[in-house]
Amino acid sequence: MDSARLSLSDARRALLAKEISASELTDACLKRITAVNPELFAYLEVFEDEARHAAAAADGKLAASSEVGPLEGIPIAVKDNLLNAGHAVTAASKILERYRAAYSATVLEKIRAAGAVILGRTNMDEFAMGSSTESSAFGATKNPWDVLRVPGGSSGGSAAAVAADLCIAALGSDTGGSIRQPAALCGVVGLKPTYGRVSRYGLIAMASSLDQIGPLAKTVEDAAALLSVIEGEDQRDSTTASEPPTDWKRRADLKGVRVGIPQEYQEGIADLPMGAAIEKAVAKLRELGAEVKEISLPHAPYALAVYYVLMPAEVSSNLARFDGVRYGPRAAGENLLELYRQTRGAFLGDEARRRIMLGTYALSAGYYDAYYRKAQEARTLVKQDYRAAFTQVDVLVAPTSPTTAWPLGEKFDDPLAMYLADVDTVSANVAGLPAITIPCGLLDGLPAGLQFIGPAWSEGMLFSVADCAERAFEFRKLKVSSQ
Ligand code: GLN
Repeated sequence: MDSARLSLSDARRALLAKEISASELTDACLKRITAVNPELFAYLEVFEDEARHAAAAADGKLAASSEVGPLEGIPIAVKDNLLNAGHAVTAASKILERYRAAYSATVLEKIRAAGAVILGRTNMDEFAMGSSTESSAFGATKNPWDVLRVPGGSSGGSAAAVAADLCIAALGSDTGGSIRQPAALCGVVGLKPTYGRVSRYGLIAMASSLDQIGPLAKTVEDAAALLSVIEGEDQRDSTTASEPPTDWKRRADLKGVRVGIPQEYQEGIADLPMGAAIEKAVAKLRELGAEVKEISLPHAPYALAVYYVLMPAEVSSNLARFDGVRYGPRAAGENLLELYRQTRGAFLGDEARRRIMLGTYALSAGYYDAYYRKAQEARTLVKQDYRAAFTQVDVLVAPTSPTTAWPLGEKFDDPLAMYLADVDTVSANVAGLPAITIPCGLLDGLPAGLQFIGPAWSEGMLFSVADCAERAFEFRKLKVSSQ
């Protein structure tokens, strides 16, 4: 078997048993990248020489069996909004095209210290704004299951790279679903951790109260392995918490696990093929022994509106620095205002500018109370619903996306249709909760994702439950035979 197809845990076993070397594993990934990336465009840049050097260094450690890190010799892809000292990091925007990072994100330092081989930076929607990876200034990524379809977004490059075995696992960021939704559309596992679990230091900020970095991987076990390396309190991000590390155990069944099905998530998809796919998956959970009951989150229908007020407000202040003065290229203007206008017009895409304008509007005097304050109040209600639900059930189950991957271009000129693609994922960000997606089957040959949402800091429980479900769904068998 091509070693690029290995899961992280199988690759680790093979490396420790000296059945393969890190150099072979890295070469296998690079070979697939050369063959497939021109079509998929999952990577914006591949660090070929650097990856080979890192792999050789890992082989030295593995041979000596000394200082072998938890990711020793494992090829990892990294979303292009995570700073990597000395490298270009663009957030898929023209405004950062020539930017070189002066320091590395905490998560990059951590995976490097754990022995990972960083393969390259992956494509994304510009500044992580989007659900299809089509708003990248450098071109769209394609879905490996059907290259005429989107991979989801904004971490579409990372999801496609994992799905097509162009890496062993990847990092992404999730502000309103950008890890989970592309993971679902590409048939891989994706976790958005609890807000504060993973340091955001060195992540190009989109909306700081919602952003979290997390793993995209081939299995739940792999996502857990990657999270255990990147999580933890960080002096350089004061929103990180000093929680104990995530701990999870494999379970044989789901006996005693109380699973809630939020009605509000089901409503929109009841008559769609996705509704049937989720029903089938829930039936499997029941067979595994889970106690399934219906639950109501009365304010869930407002979460999308809350998100699309708060997120642009935060975007407008986070992106204020990209003005042609402090970062990036400058377009000429007769006065300062004109300089800003020309620079942003020339180097920022439509979606980024749309959100800066919406956010500035929502924060302006006279509208602040009507929009921003109202949305913050509604955010509290959304959070309270979840708190109440978790007194009755251990975990909630929902679709990750209302549909499977759609054709390239279908929603690109219709921002509202694009925003609706986030309806199942934004609430976890609004409420700061951890959520994981696993592939649960195919609909017309395209992957469907099942999402588990847990209380804050319950990643260990989510991994145990999702791992058990994953083994029952046997999705990887489907994948191997269909690709
Ligand atoms: N698709 C959502 C948006 O466009 C989420 C993006 C993200 O999570 N970074 O805002």
